[in-house]
Amino acid sequence: MSSVTLEHVHKRFGQAKGVEDVHIHIESGEFFTFLGPSGCGKTTTLRMIAGFYFPTEGQIRFGSREVTSVPPHKRNTGMVFQNYALFPHMTVFENIAFGLQVRKLSRTETQERVEKMMKLVRLEGYGERRIDQLSGGQQQRVALARALVIEPQILLLDEPLSNLDAKLREETRFEIKRLQLELGITTIYVTHDQAEAMSMSDRIMVMQSGEVQQIGTPHDIYHRPVNRFVASFIGETNLWEGTVAGIEGDEVQVRVSSGQILTGLKKNASPQVRLAAGEKVTLSIRPESVMESTTGEEANTVTGAVVLAEFTGACVNYVTSVGDEQLRSMSINLGRPVKQRGDTIKLHIPKESIYFAG
Ligand code: ATP
Repeated sequence: MSSVTLEHVHKRFGQAKGVEDVHIHIESGEFFTFLGPSGCGKTTTLRMIAGFYFPTEGQIRFGSREVTSVPPHKRNTGMVFQNYALFPHMTVFENIAFGLQVRKLSRTETQERVEKMMKLVRLEGYGERRIDQLSGGQQQRVALARALVIEPQILLLDEPLSNLDAKLREETRFEIKRLQLELGITTIYVTHDQAEAMSMSDRIMVMQSGEVQQIGTPHDIYHRPVNRFVASFIGETNLWEGTVAGIEGDEVQVRVSSGQILTGLKKNASPQVRLAAGEKVTLSIRPESVMESTTGEEANTVTGAVVLAEFTGACVNYVTSVGDEQLRSMSINLGRPVKQRGDTIKLHIPKESIYFAG
């Protein structure tokens, strides 16, 4: 297995920007995801790692080997494409064996390796089926087996689940993760689906408009988004505008639109947020960290009117208007009476779950 390093990599298509200044080191054996909306540059970055595009600037290394301008077939990467790119008129066996035949492996070794792969992706007994006789999920597994059979150092997956229905997508997500852990293979995964990225990855790179926004573990990205874009792209969040009312040591006070001052907020990881008295800031508050207050006396308790109440059985969700802002909250149903639209409610926002997002 190999680490992957991109050093200040840029890709331009004529005058058009593809990606700008991608600078990452992916550890050997890591599951690393490029996440972002359509057109943000995920596929372009993956294609540069595969060798289908060469960078306009910058360097790519696999371990200590520089591969910046090495063609795809000399890189030892396995790739799964969004549409699988299987050969429809060939059998499952022939599809998986293709890369081995190109590499001129003996018949016996080809047979052994293909059978091992079919077992690994749970396709035993399907060798003679034609691709057009398979379900979408089975085709996806053939594509995975075909990528893995060449024993690549790095596995590249470009939106591999997007053609599957929701249930199958979830099952296959676990399947890919299981394979990756079993093989310990360095895996780079491209998706626009934040739940996929969060559930599978060791680390995620969030991209927008060809630029890297944040790199971190799912936990870091969720809890310490560096800007508004990341905060709202990953999960649900309340973004509240406020003004810094004061700073004491490591703790910041912010006045929000209801006039209330939220206290004890920690300066978080975001270097681009200017935290000085009088500065405008955006706070990110996750709905699941907002709690209905029983006493109304905890620090950072706000009072508002319920705009929308939703009872799902397991959870009670409210949208509450507080000053000029709305606050979404989501809590486990503890059997308390559910508030109705127009009721007054006191909500406690623990200081450790309020972040600066801009
Ligand atoms: P999607 O999820 O829709 O595939 P993406 O995040 O993978 O999107 P890219 O396909 O990497 O985005 O595209 C990044 C930018 O580069 C886009 O603005 C796109 O229009 C541009 N781009 C990509 N490939 C080319 C190309 N071959 N020629 C010109 N522009 C391109």
